[in-house]
Amino acid sequence: MKPFLNKRDLLSRSLAEVLLCVILLSLLPGCGGGSRAVTLEQIEELRTMESLLPITADSAVERYRRYEPGVFYATYGDLIRGATVLMDSLNRPLPPALRIDTLAIDHTFENLGEAAKRGHTLSLSSSYFYLYESLPLIRSVVWHEFGHVYCARLRDDQVRRLKKLWEEVRVTALFYVFRDGEYSENARFGGHPEDSPEELFASAFNLFSNRPEEVVVRAEYVTPNERDLVKQLQALVKESLQGL
Ligand SMILES: [Zn+2]
Repeated sequence: MKPFLNKRDLLSRSLAEVLLCVILLSLLPGCGGGSRAVTLEQIEELRTMESLLPITADSAVERYRRYEPGVFYATYGDLIRGATVLMDSLNRPLPPALRIDTLAIDHTFENLGEAAKRGHTLSLSSSYFYLYESLPLIRSVVWHEFGHVYCARLRDDQVRRLKKLWEEVRVTALFYVFRDGEYSENARFGGHPEDSPEELFASAFNLFSNRPEEVVVRAEYVTPNERDLVKQLQALVKESLQGL
């Protein structure tokens, strides 16, 4: 069963400035009992990560079944519009070649909790909407993914600084300070700065933009000796947003 694009949504077209289109990703009807089918194994797997979810695994499955695409779009139109408006503003300073021009909402159960940038498309699991029902949360996911775009356009000297910072954060075991999921209004499973300098930047890009006070206070509390490291990372994020 391969996801396919079967519908263009008209929501974004009502926003004159929005350059984005919103598309729907779902499974081919008739395959494996339709897109609402969830296996017992999948439910069990979800239960193992229940502590990271805002509701129980059973409730998540119930919502997944309830929010089939038609109901989903009727219910979460405002949140989807909120995401496209934010994407539009984060796109605006970027050259066309780097812009994300499509928001693909993935309704498959397999990809629950997934968010990723692929080429010019931001693919976002519909679960972010129906599990959290929160614009700040959607904003944090969009900011993180755009962090990857802004990271890709850092100059060579900035990339060198980022790599050095990532190494210092690794040595001082401070990745958890920069994990999106540790902060309010972020998905608990969000962020994996330990994976690479780029992931550290994307998480920092989100946190310093949306939770600036929280991240500075927290960093001050747990890492008073690493004040400079936190400042340098914050400065790099700032620079990436300036001079565009
Ligand atoms: Zn990332």
